[in-house]
Amino acid sequence: MTKHIFITGGVVSSLGKGLTAASIALLLKKRGYKVEMQKMDPYLNVDPGTMSPYQHGEVYVTNDGTETDLDLGHYERFAGITCSSRSNYTTGKIYSTVINRERQGGYLGGTVQVIPHITNEIKSAIVSMDNEETDIVITEIGGTAGDIESLPYLEAIRQFKYEFGFKNSLFIHLTLVPYIKAAGEMKTKPSQQSVGILRGIGIMPEMLICRCERPMEEDHFKKLSLFCNIPEELVIEEQDVANNIYEVPVELAKQGVDKKILNFFDLPENDLDLTDWQNVVDTIISPKNGSIEIAVIGKYISLKDAYKSIYEALTHAGISNSVDVQFRMIEAEDLEKENGLDLLKDVDGILLPGGFGSRGVLGKLLAAQYARENKVPFLGICLGMQCAVIEFARNVCGMESADSTEFRPETKYPVIALMEEQKSILNMGGTMRLGAYPCNLKNNTWSLDAYGEKAISERHRHRYEFNSKFREQLEQAGLTIAGTSHDDLIVEIVEVKNHPWYVACQFHPEFQSTPLKPHPLFKDFVGASLKNAQTKCECDGNCKPQED
Ligand code: GLN
Repeated sequence: MTKHIFITGGVVSSLGKGLTAASIALLLKKRGYKVEMQKMDPYLNVDPGTMSPYQHGEVYVTNDGTETDLDLGHYERFAGITCSSRSNYTTGKIYSTVINRERQGGYLGGTVQVIPHITNEIKSAIVSMDNEETDIVITEIGGTAGDIESLPYLEAIRQFKYEFGFKNSLFIHLTLVPYIKAAGEMKTKPSQQSVGILRGIGIMPEMLICRCERPMEEDHFKKLSLFCNIPEELVIEEQDVANNIYEVPVELAKQGVDKKILNFFDLPENDLDLTDWQNVVDTIISPKNGSIEIAVIGKYISLKDAYKSIYEALTHAGISNSVDVQFRMIEAEDLEKENGLDLLKDVDGILLPGGFGSRGVLGKLLAAQYARENKVPFLGICLGMQCAVIEFARNVCGMESADSTEFRPETKYPVIALMEEQKSILNMGGTMRLGAYPCNLKNNTWSLDAYGEKAISERHRHRYEFNSKFREQLEQAGLTIAGTSHDDLIVEIVEVKNHPWYVACQFHPEFQSTPLKPHPLFKDFVGASLKNAQTKCECDGNCKPQED
């Protein structure tokens, strides 16, 4: 029978429930178990696809084309899990299913209510993860204990435990043990109160994971154990890690979290070999090739979560090149100001990520031009690729007003235009070209060099595309079409030659990068940027950290 772990959060949000859940999944997988993961989000949007990154951070896209919470990125990166539409439920999605069923007469004669209809729907979402091959499902409940909107989820998992057996599911509660500077002490009271809230709704956490800035003392463990009804050995400390989030699983393993979970379920411990993961952590801490700086140009740059997978993929590529990748985060609009391009001075590589809407597009075009003309390694992603094409059309082909019809529908040169199948779509949610599509790579391209194989599959999230009407003209001017859809109709990758490395793709390679398997395009982009850094300063790449 599949075992279930439910992770709830208390005291404050942003404690890193997703990271903790993903770290536990990695450890259990490394001990030989087949693990699946799922996140419940208590908001009313059906998915986060319609939310601004300022509200929600990045929208993470799965292979099957579901627009999901960015925590699913942690699940895939840490635990190598392939997420799907079953991996992320929101209150909006749960309610839509129930209301649609009601309209179809599915509850004829009945009054439809939160309990049992919504809670039953939540339980079936949880059970949908079970199958013969799955040993353990980890479900993260979004929000914080005490939130009104999380209540149906908490009630559902309470019932779940009662119905499926007390030893078949485990409640883990993640809380904060803050350090109060004025008192010079760490405080356990907020955690006690959070557990109290859960107890009030019938949930008795069986493991407490305490996020803290400083090490907890014996007294804290004892107090939390006594007041929260949790054996002392199941009170776990999760201190802020010193260098990188990839240290979290190593730290949790040191406290035997994985073993304790398996003991709870009466499952064999098996061996744990974290060598490859430890190598990742060690390389991040002491890379052989010093440090490089990559400019990331976006329009939500003040919020790091808005480009989460991009930064992670760059870090992964740093691991494979044994170099520390520093980010110079630049607001695209700042490049549009007087002397704005000075912001790009001395960067070793330029990355233009995806985005929507016209704000900052001029700055992005200037960055693409700067990279092309100054021979700075360049990776353009989705809108970044579209900007690269527009810039090339304007400045190399002389199509002065070249644009995307997203920004200027009446342009004479619509080099980027709405995809044919998008023209009749009116609904905004879940209607873009989404998820994994195959792509064929052409000979003599950096892309083929990077992937090492011609047939690849990458994830998409866009409505506009390279307009094939301009393909010949742009190719003649020197733009290389490096990858296309299997029928050769959709341009998926462009490259600019006579350059150290200039690649731009319509898809989002960042979603498939993991620390153990860095994405080939990111790997080669960072490789080219490292080479650029080394040639620029004529050293072996180690001068930068010394300068710092
Ligand atoms: N706004 C562009 C489009 O819809 C690019 C989308 C993106 O970068 N994800 O095609």
